[in-house]
Amino acid sequence: MDFNLSEEHRMIRDMCREFARNVIVPRAHEIDKTGDYAYDIIEQMAELGMMGIPISEKYGGSGGDWVGMHLCIEEISRGDATFGALLDVNTSIVAQELEVFGTEEQKQKYLVPIAKGEKIGAFGMTEPDAGSDAGSIRTSAYLDGNEWIINGNKQFITNIGLKNASIIIITAVTKRAKRGRGRISTLIVPKESPGFMLGKRYDKIGLNGSATHEVIFEDCRIPRANLLGDPSKGFAQHLSVLQTGRISIAAIATGIATACLDECIKYAKERVQFGRPIGSFQAIKFKIADMAVCIELARNQYLKAAWLKDQGMKHAFEATVAKLYASEMVERVASDAVQIHGGYGYMAEFPVSRYYKGAKVLQIVEGTSEIMRIILSRELGIPEY
Ligand SMILES: Cc1cc2nc3c(=O)[nH]c(=O)nc-3n(C[C@H](O)[C@H](O)[C@H](O)COP(=O)(O)OP(=O)(O)OC[C@H]3O[C@@H](n4cnc5c(N)ncnc54)[C@H](O)[C@@H]3O)c2cc1C
Repeated sequence: MDFNLSEEHRMIRDMCREFARNVIVPRAHEIDKTGDYAYDIIEQMAELGMMGIPISEKYGGSGGDWVGMHLCIEEISRGDATFGALLDVNTSIVAQELEVFGTEEQKQKYLVPIAKGEKIGAFGMTEPDAGSDAGSIRTSAYLDGNEWIINGNKQFITNIGLKNASIIIITAVTKRAKRGRGRISTLIVPKESPGFMLGKRYDKIGLNGSATHEVIFEDCRIPRANLLGDPSKGFAQHLSVLQTGRISIAAIATGIATACLDECIKYAKERVQFGRPIGSFQAIKFKIADMAVCIELARNQYLKAAWLKDQGMKHAFEATVAKLYASEMVERVASDAVQIHGGYGYMAEFPVSRYYKGAKVLQIVEGTSEIMRIILSRELGIPEY
Protein backbone atom coordinates (compact mmCIF):
# COMPACT_ATOMS: atom_id res chain seq x y z
CA MET A 1 0.00 0.00 0.00
CA ASP A 2 1.40 3.39 -0.94
CA PHE A 3 -0.20 6.40 0.74
CA ASN A 4 2.16 8.90 -0.89
CA LEU A 5 0.69 11.32 -3.37
CA SER A 6 2.38 11.18 -6.75
CA GLU A 7 4.33 14.16 -8.02
CA GLU A 8 1.40 15.04 -10.28
CA HIS A 9 -1.11 14.84 -7.43
CA ARG A 10 1.06 17.06 -5.24
CA MET A 11 1.32 19.59 -8.06
CA ILE A 12 -2.47 19.68 -8.50
CA ARG A 13 -3.05 19.99 -4.76
CA ASP A 14 -0.48 22.76 -4.32
CA MET A 15 -1.65 24.69 -7.37
CA CYS A 16 -5.28 24.56 -6.21
CA ARG A 17 -4.33 25.41 -2.62
CA GLU A 18 -2.41 28.46 -3.76
CA PHE A 19 -5.21 29.53 -6.10
CA ALA A 20 -7.78 29.19 -3.32
CA ARG A 21 -5.62 31.13 -0.88
CA ASN A 22 -4.70 33.96 -3.26
CA VAL A 23 -7.77 34.31 -5.48
CA ILE A 24 -10.81 32.77 -3.75
CA VAL A 25 -10.33 33.49 -0.04
CA PRO A 26 -9.99 37.29 -0.40
CA ARG A 27 -13.34 37.35 -2.30
CA ALA A 28 -15.30 34.67 -0.44
CA HIS A 29 -17.02 36.92 2.11
CA GLU A 30 -18.16 39.39 -0.55
CA ILE A 31 -19.44 36.57 -2.80
CA ASP A 32 -21.41 35.07 0.07
CA LYS A 33 -22.86 38.47 1.01
CA THR A 34 -23.86 39.65 -2.47
CA GLY A 35 -24.62 36.26 -4.03
CA ASP A 36 -22.92 37.50 -7.20
CA TYR A 37 -21.57 34.81 -9.49
CA ALA A 38 -17.78 35.19 -9.71
CA TYR A 39 -17.33 34.57 -13.44
CA ASP A 40 -13.76 35.82 -13.35
CA ILE A 41 -12.82 33.16 -10.78
CA ILE A 42 -14.62 30.44 -12.75
CA GLU A 43 -12.74 31.57 -15.88
CA GLN A 44 -9.38 31.36 -14.09
CA MET A 45 -10.23 27.90 -12.75
CA ALA A 46 -10.98 26.84 -16.33
CA GLU A 47 -7.72 28.32 -17.61
CA LEU A 48 -5.84 26.32 -14.99
CA GLY A 49 -7.49 23.14 -16.28
CA MET A 50 -9.54 22.39 -13.16
CA MET A 51 -12.78 21.63 -15.03
CA GLY A 52 -11.47 18.60 -16.88
CA ILE A 53 -8.78 16.99 -14.72
CA PRO A 54 -10.00 13.35 -15.10
CA ILE A 55 -11.41 13.74 -18.61
CA SER A 56 -9.29 12.43 -21.47
CA GLU A 57 -7.25 14.91 -23.50
CA LYS A 58 -9.12 13.81 -26.61
CA TYR A 59 -12.24 15.42 -25.14
CA GLY A 60 -10.70 18.62 -23.81
CA GLY A 61 -9.60 17.37 -20.39
CA SER A 62 -6.17 16.88 -18.83
CA GLY A 63 -6.11 13.07 -18.93
CA GLY A 64 -5.57 12.92 -15.16
CA ASP A 65 -7.48 10.88 -12.62
CA TRP A 66 -10.15 11.07 -9.92
CA VAL A 67 -7.67 11.30 -7.06
CA GLY A 68 -6.29 14.47 -8.68
CA MET A 69 -9.80 15.83 -9.30
CA HIS A 70 -10.79 15.35 -5.68
CA LEU A 71 -7.62 16.87 -4.29
CA CYS A 72 -8.56 19.88 -6.42
CA ILE A 73 -12.15 19.90 -5.12
CA GLU A 74 -10.94 19.74 -1.51
CA GLU A 75 -8.49 22.62 -1.88
CA ILE A 76 -10.93 24.82 -3.81
CA SER A 77 -13.64 24.17 -1.21
CA ARG A 78 -11.19 25.12 1.51
CA GLY A 79 -11.30 28.56 -0.12
CA ASP A 80 -15.06 28.58 -0.78
CA ALA A 81 -17.30 25.52 -1.19
CA THR A 82 -19.36 27.44 -3.76
CA PHE A 83 -16.65 26.57 -6.30
CA GLY A 84 -16.28 23.01 -5.05
CA ALA A 85 -19.99 22.49 -5.73
CA LEU A 86 -19.53 23.85 -9.25
CA LEU A 87 -16.70 21.38 -9.91
CA ASP A 88 -18.64 18.47 -8.46
CA VAL A 89 -21.65 19.00 -10.72
CA ASN A 90 -19.73 20.11 -13.81
CA THR A 91 -16.97 17.51 -13.84
CA SER A 92 -17.72 14.62 -11.50
CA ILE A 93 -21.27 14.28 -12.76
CA VAL A 94 -21.97 15.98 -16.10
CA ALA A 95 -18.59 15.61 -17.84
CA GLN A 96 -18.22 12.05 -16.59
CA GLU A 97 -21.73 11.10 -17.72
CA LEU A 98 -21.02 12.45 -21.20
CA GLU A 99 -17.64 10.74 -21.42
CA VAL A 100 -18.91 7.35 -20.25
CA PHE A 101 -22.27 7.21 -21.99
CA GLY A 102 -22.11 9.77 -24.82
CA THR A 103 -21.76 9.13 -28.53
CA GLU A 104 -18.72 10.53 -30.31
CA GLU A 105 -20.86 13.36 -31.67
CA GLN A 106 -22.26 14.21 -28.21
CA LYS A 107 -18.77 14.21 -26.75
CA GLN A 108 -17.41 16.57 -29.40
CA LYS A 109 -20.39 18.89 -29.16
CA TYR A 110 -21.08 18.99 -25.42
CA LEU A 111 -18.21 17.41 -23.47
CA VAL A 112 -15.26 19.20 -25.05
CA PRO A 113 -16.39 22.75 -24.12
CA ILE A 114 -17.40 21.57 -20.62
CA ALA A 115 -14.10 19.79 -19.94
CA LYS A 116 -12.24 22.87 -21.15
CA GLY A 117 -14.38 25.08 -18.91
CA GLU A 118 -15.62 27.22 -21.79
CA LYS A 119 -19.12 26.03 -20.90
CA ILE A 120 -20.61 24.73 -17.65
CA GLY A 121 -22.85 21.69 -17.22
CA ALA A 122 -25.79 20.96 -14.93
CA PHE A 123 -27.80 17.85 -14.06
CA GLY A 124 -31.47 17.64 -13.16
CA MET A 125 -32.98 14.77 -11.29
CA THR A 126 -34.84 16.42 -8.43
CA GLU A 127 -38.45 17.57 -8.86
CA PRO A 128 -40.98 19.07 -6.46
CA ASP A 129 -42.41 15.61 -5.67
CA ALA A 130 -39.32 13.51 -6.35
CA GLY A 131 -36.25 14.07 -4.18
CA SER A 132 -34.86 11.03 -2.36
CA ASP A 133 -37.42 8.99 -4.28
CA ALA A 134 -35.79 10.04 -7.56
CA GLY A 135 -37.46 7.23 -9.50
CA SER A 136 -40.86 8.86 -9.03
CA ILE A 137 -40.19 11.77 -11.38
CA ARG A 138 -43.01 13.20 -13.49
CA THR A 139 -40.98 14.97 -16.17
CA SER A 140 -41.73 13.11 -19.36
CA ALA A 141 -40.47 13.04 -22.93
CA TYR A 142 -41.89 11.53 -26.10
CA LEU A 143 -40.63 11.31 -29.64
CA ASP A 144 -42.18 13.48 -32.32
CA GLY A 145 -40.36 12.63 -35.55
CA ASN A 146 -36.75 13.58 -35.02
CA GLU A 147 -37.32 15.42 -31.76
CA TRP A 148 -37.99 14.70 -28.12
CA ILE A 149 -40.74 16.82 -26.58
CA ILE A 150 -40.19 17.35 -22.86
CA ASN A 151 -42.66 18.54 -20.24
CA GLY A 152 -42.14 18.94 -16.53
CA ASN A 153 -39.92 20.75 -14.10
CA LYS A 154 -36.79 20.24 -12.05
CA GLN A 155 -35.88 22.00 -8.84
CA PHE A 156 -32.78 22.97 -6.86
CA ILE A 157 -30.57 22.76 -9.96
CA THR A 158 -26.92 23.74 -9.47
CA ASN A 159 -25.01 25.67 -12.19
CA ILE A 160 -27.81 26.00 -14.74
CA GLY A 161 -28.38 29.68 -13.84
CA LEU A 162 -24.82 30.63 -14.80
CA LYS A 163 -24.68 32.60 -18.04
CA ASN A 164 -22.12 30.18 -19.49
CA ALA A 165 -24.12 27.05 -18.58
CA SER A 166 -24.74 25.17 -21.83
CA ILE A 167 -26.72 22.04 -21.02
CA ILE A 168 -28.66 20.20 -18.38
CA ILE A 169 -28.64 16.41 -18.36
CA ILE A 170 -32.06 15.33 -17.12
CA THR A 171 -33.88 12.17 -16.20
CA ALA A 172 -37.30 11.86 -17.84
CA VAL A 173 -39.95 9.18 -18.18
CA THR A 174 -39.88 8.10 -21.83
CA LYS A 175 -42.30 5.19 -21.59
CA ARG A 176 -45.21 4.98 -19.20
CA ALA A 177 -45.93 1.62 -17.57
CA LYS A 178 -49.40 0.24 -16.88
CA ARG A 179 -48.05 -0.74 -13.49
CA GLY A 180 -44.88 0.45 -11.81
CA ARG A 181 -42.71 3.37 -12.70
CA GLY A 182 -42.13 3.30 -16.41
CA ARG A 183 -38.90 3.73 -18.30
CA ILE A 184 -36.52 6.52 -17.31
CA SER A 185 -33.99 7.82 -19.83
CA THR A 186 -31.39 10.57 -19.66
CA LEU A 187 -31.53 13.43 -22.15
CA ILE A 188 -29.15 16.25 -22.94
CA VAL A 189 -31.07 19.52 -23.02
CA PRO A 190 -29.23 22.53 -24.42
CA LYS A 191 -30.19 25.71 -22.59
CA GLU A 192 -31.23 27.49 -25.78
CA SER A 193 -33.79 24.78 -26.70
CA PRO A 194 -37.29 26.07 -27.49
CA GLY A 195 -39.52 25.49 -24.45
CA PHE A 196 -36.62 25.53 -21.94
CA MET A 197 -37.21 28.08 -19.19
CA LEU A 198 -35.04 29.08 -16.28
CA GLY A 199 -37.28 29.43 -13.23
CA LYS A 200 -36.67 31.25 -9.97
CA ARG A 201 -33.31 31.52 -8.34
CA TYR A 202 -33.43 30.02 -4.83
CA ASP A 203 -32.46 32.17 -1.87
CA LYS A 204 -30.27 29.83 0.19
CA ILE A 205 -28.78 30.05 3.68
CA GLY A 206 -25.26 29.27 2.45
CA LEU A 207 -23.12 28.65 -0.66
CA ASN A 208 -24.62 31.86 -1.97
CA GLY A 209 -22.28 32.21 -4.92
CA SER A 210 -23.46 28.85 -6.23
CA ALA A 211 -26.30 29.14 -8.76
CA THR A 212 -29.39 27.15 -7.72
CA HIS A 213 -32.46 27.45 -9.95
CA GLU A 214 -35.72 25.91 -10.93
CA VAL A 215 -36.01 24.68 -14.52
CA ILE A 216 -39.24 24.37 -16.51
CA PHE A 217 -39.81 22.41 -19.71
CA GLU A 218 -42.89 23.37 -21.68
CA ASP A 219 -43.11 21.35 -24.87
CA CYS A 220 -39.35 21.71 -24.90
CA ARG A 221 -37.87 20.36 -28.13
CA ILE A 222 -34.46 18.74 -28.40
CA PRO A 223 -32.99 16.60 -31.20
CA ARG A 224 -33.66 12.86 -31.09
CA ALA A 225 -29.88 12.40 -31.04
CA ASN A 226 -29.73 13.99 -27.58
CA LEU A 227 -30.73 10.78 -25.84
CA LEU A 228 -27.74 9.87 -23.65
CA GLY A 229 -26.76 6.22 -23.47
CA ASP A 230 -29.20 3.34 -23.20
CA PRO A 231 -32.83 4.58 -23.11
CA SER A 232 -33.86 1.85 -20.69
CA LYS A 233 -30.97 2.44 -18.30
CA GLY A 234 -31.09 6.21 -17.86
CA PHE A 235 -31.74 6.04 -14.16
CA ALA A 236 -28.98 3.50 -13.50
CA GLN A 237 -26.53 5.50 -15.64
CA HIS A 238 -27.23 8.60 -13.64
CA LEU A 239 -26.93 6.79 -10.30
CA SER A 240 -23.58 5.36 -11.36
CA VAL A 241 -22.04 8.81 -11.85
CA LEU A 242 -23.65 10.02 -8.62
CA GLN A 243 -21.31 7.58 -6.85
CA THR A 244 -18.48 9.87 -7.92
CA GLY A 245 -20.55 12.87 -6.84
CA ARG A 246 -20.54 11.35 -3.35
CA ILE A 247 -16.75 11.26 -3.30
CA SER A 248 -16.83 14.90 -4.39
CA ILE A 249 -19.20 15.87 -1.58
CA ALA A 250 -16.79 14.19 0.87
CA ALA A 251 -13.91 16.21 -0.63
CA ILE A 252 -15.93 19.45 -0.31
CA ALA A 253 -16.69 18.59 3.33
CA THR A 254 -13.01 17.88 4.01
CA GLY A 255 -12.10 21.23 2.45
CA ILE A 256 -14.59 23.18 4.59
CA ALA A 257 -13.52 21.30 7.74
CA THR A 258 -9.85 22.02 7.02
CA ALA A 259 -10.67 25.71 6.62
CA CYS A 260 -12.41 25.55 10.03
CA LEU A 261 -9.32 23.93 11.54
CA ASP A 262 -7.03 26.62 10.04
CA GLU A 263 -9.16 29.40 11.50
CA CYS A 264 -9.44 27.73 14.90
CA ILE A 265 -5.71 27.14 15.30
CA LYS A 266 -5.07 30.79 14.45
CA TYR A 267 -7.80 32.12 16.73
CA ALA A 268 -6.91 29.86 19.65
CA LYS A 269 -3.43 31.37 19.68
CA GLU A 270 -4.59 34.99 19.28
CA ARG A 271 -7.63 35.25 21.52
CA VAL A 272 -6.75 35.95 25.13
CA GLN A 273 -9.18 35.40 28.02
CA PHE A 274 -8.38 35.09 31.70
CA GLY A 275 -4.89 36.32 30.83
CA ARG A 276 -4.10 33.36 28.57
CA PRO A 277 -4.62 32.42 24.91
CA ILE A 278 -7.81 30.33 24.77
CA GLY A 279 -5.80 27.59 23.04
CA SER A 280 -4.18 26.88 26.41
CA PHE A 281 -7.56 25.73 27.80
CA GLN A 282 -7.97 22.00 27.48
CA ALA A 283 -11.59 22.39 26.37
CA ILE A 284 -10.46 24.33 23.31
CA LYS A 285 -7.35 22.35 22.39
CA PHE A 286 -9.20 19.03 22.63
CA LYS A 287 -11.89 20.32 20.29
CA ILE A 288 -9.18 21.30 17.82
CA ALA A 289 -7.38 17.96 18.17
CA ASP A 290 -10.67 16.14 17.55
CA MET A 291 -11.25 18.22 14.41
CA ALA A 292 -7.87 17.17 13.06
CA VAL A 293 -8.66 13.49 13.73
CA CYS A 294 -11.99 13.68 11.85
CA ILE A 295 -10.48 15.55 8.91
CA GLU A 296 -7.70 13.01 8.56
CA LEU A 297 -10.20 10.15 8.48
CA ALA A 298 -12.50 11.92 6.01
CA ARG A 299 -9.61 12.70 3.66
CA ASN A 300 -8.29 9.14 3.80
CA GLN A 301 -11.73 7.78 3.01
CA TYR A 302 -12.49 10.01 0.01
CA LEU A 303 -9.01 9.36 -1.39
CA LYS A 304 -9.52 5.62 -0.97
CA ALA A 305 -12.84 5.77 -2.83
CA ALA A 306 -11.31 7.92 -5.61
CA TRP A 307 -8.32 5.59 -5.88
CA LEU A 308 -10.58 2.53 -6.18
CA LYS A 309 -12.47 4.31 -8.94
CA ASP A 310 -9.20 5.08 -10.74
CA GLN A 311 -8.29 1.37 -10.55
CA GLY A 312 -11.65 0.48 -12.11
CA MET A 313 -12.63 -1.31 -8.90
CA LYS A 314 -15.99 -1.33 -7.10
CA HIS A 315 -16.29 1.68 -4.84
CA ALA A 316 -19.99 2.13 -4.07
CA PHE A 317 -19.54 1.20 -0.40
CA GLU A 318 -16.42 3.34 0.07
CA ALA A 319 -17.93 6.37 -1.71
CA THR A 320 -21.08 6.15 0.40
CA VAL A 321 -19.06 5.84 3.62
CA ALA A 322 -16.96 8.83 2.53
CA LYS A 323 -20.04 10.98 1.82
CA LEU A 324 -21.92 10.03 4.98
CA TYR A 325 -18.96 10.37 7.32
CA ALA A 326 -17.51 13.58 5.87
CA SER A 327 -20.83 15.42 5.56
CA GLU A 328 -21.81 14.63 9.15
CA MET A 329 -18.28 15.36 10.37
CA VAL A 330 -18.15 18.82 8.79
CA GLU A 331 -21.36 19.94 10.44
CA ARG A 332 -19.90 19.09 13.88
CA VAL A 333 -16.54 20.62 13.03
CA ALA A 334 -18.10 23.85 11.73
CA SER A 335 -20.30 24.10 14.82
CA ASP A 336 -17.26 23.64 17.07
CA ALA A 337 -15.37 26.22 15.02
CA VAL A 338 -18.10 28.80 15.69
CA GLN A 339 -18.06 27.83 19.38
CA ILE A 340 -14.30 28.32 19.59
CA HIS A 341 -14.73 31.79 18.11
CA GLY A 342 -17.43 32.68 20.66
CA GLY A 343 -19.62 35.64 19.65
CA TYR A 344 -17.26 36.60 16.85
CA GLY A 345 -17.94 33.22 15.27
CA TYR A 346 -21.54 34.27 14.75
CA MET A 347 -20.55 37.41 12.87
CA ALA A 348 -20.65 37.34 9.09
CA GLU A 349 -17.17 38.79 8.65
CA PHE A 350 -15.62 35.82 10.44
CA PRO A 351 -15.13 33.00 7.91
CA VAL A 352 -16.29 30.28 10.32
CA SER A 353 -19.86 31.61 10.14
CA ARG A 354 -19.79 31.06 6.37
CA TYR A 355 -18.35 27.55 6.79
CA TYR A 356 -21.12 26.76 9.29
CA LYS A 357 -23.83 27.84 6.82
CA GLY A 358 -22.22 25.96 3.95
CA ALA A 359 -21.62 22.70 5.82
CA LYS A 360 -25.24 21.69 6.43
CA VAL A 361 -26.23 21.19 2.82
CA LEU A 362 -23.68 18.42 2.35
CA GLN A 363 -25.88 16.06 4.38
CA ILE A 364 -28.71 16.71 1.92
CA VAL A 365 -27.35 16.95 -1.63
CA GLU A 366 -26.70 13.93 -3.82
CA GLY A 367 -28.47 11.65 -1.36
CA THR A 368 -29.31 12.56 2.22
CA SER A 369 -27.59 10.96 5.22
CA GLU A 370 -30.68 8.79 5.67
CA ILE A 371 -30.47 7.56 2.07
CA MET A 372 -26.71 6.91 2.51
CA ARG A 373 -27.56 4.68 5.50
CA ILE A 374 -30.17 2.84 3.47
CA ILE A 375 -27.60 2.23 0.69
CA LEU A 376 -25.03 1.01 3.23
CA SER A 377 -27.55 -1.33 4.86
CA ARG A 378 -28.30 -2.73 1.42
CA GLU A 379 -24.57 -3.18 0.73
CA LEU A 380 -24.30 -5.01 4.05
CA GLY A 381 -26.99 -7.44 2.95
CA ILE A 382 -29.73 -6.26 5.30
CA PRO A 383 -33.06 -6.97 3.57
CA GLU A 384 -35.68 -4.31 2.91
CA TYR A 385 -39.23 -5.17 3.84
C1 LIG B 1 -28.20 23.62 -2.69
C2 LIG B 1 -28.76 22.42 -3.37
C3 LIG B 1 -28.30 22.06 -4.62
C4 LIG B 1 -28.85 20.97 -5.30
N1 LIG B 1 -28.43 20.67 -6.57
C5 LIG B 1 -29.08 19.70 -7.27
C6 LIG B 1 -28.78 19.50 -8.65
O1 LIG B 1 -27.91 20.13 -9.22
N2 LIG B 1 -29.50 18.56 -9.32
C7 LIG B 1 -30.48 17.81 -8.72
O2 LIG B 1 -31.09 16.99 -9.39
N3 LIG B 1 -30.78 18.00 -7.42
C8 LIG B 1 -30.11 18.92 -6.68
N4 LIG B 1 -30.43 19.14 -5.36
C9 LIG B 1 -31.48 18.34 -4.76
C10 LIG B 1 -31.01 17.35 -3.71
O3 LIG B 1 -30.30 16.30 -4.30
C11 LIG B 1 -32.25 16.90 -2.92
O4 LIG B 1 -32.64 18.00 -2.13
C12 LIG B 1 -32.00 15.67 -2.09
O5 LIG B 1 -31.82 14.53 -2.89
C13 LIG B 1 -33.15 15.38 -1.11
O6 LIG B 1 -34.39 15.43 -1.73
P1 LIG B 1 -35.57 16.34 -1.12
O7 LIG B 1 -35.00 17.69 -0.88
O8 LIG B 1 -36.74 16.23 -1.98
O9 LIG B 1 -35.87 15.70 0.30
P2 LIG B 1 -36.88 14.48 0.60
O10 LIG B 1 -36.57 13.34 -0.27
O11 LIG B 1 -38.25 15.01 0.59
O12 LIG B 1 -36.46 14.11 2.08
C14 LIG B 1 -36.97 14.77 3.24
C15 LIG B 1 -36.45 14.01 4.45
O13 LIG B 1 -36.98 12.67 4.46
C16 LIG B 1 -35.92 11.74 4.53
N5 LIG B 1 -36.27 10.54 3.76
C17 LIG B 1 -36.75 10.46 2.50
N6 LIG B 1 -36.93 9.17 2.16
C18 LIG B 1 -36.55 8.42 3.21
C19 LIG B 1 -36.49 7.03 3.50
N7 LIG B 1 -36.84 6.11 2.58
N8 LIG B 1 -36.05 6.62 4.71
C20 LIG B 1 -35.67 7.52 5.65
N9 LIG B 1 -35.70 8.87 5.44
C21 LIG B 1 -36.13 9.30 4.26
C22 LIG B 1 -34.72 12.46 3.90
O14 LIG B 1 -33.51 11.86 4.27
C23 LIG B 1 -34.92 13.87 4.44
O15 LIG B 1 -34.43 13.92 5.76
C24 LIG B 1 -29.87 20.20 -4.67
C25 LIG B 1 -30.31 20.55 -3.38
C26 LIG B 1 -29.77 21.65 -2.73
C27 LIG B 1 -30.28 22.00 -1.37
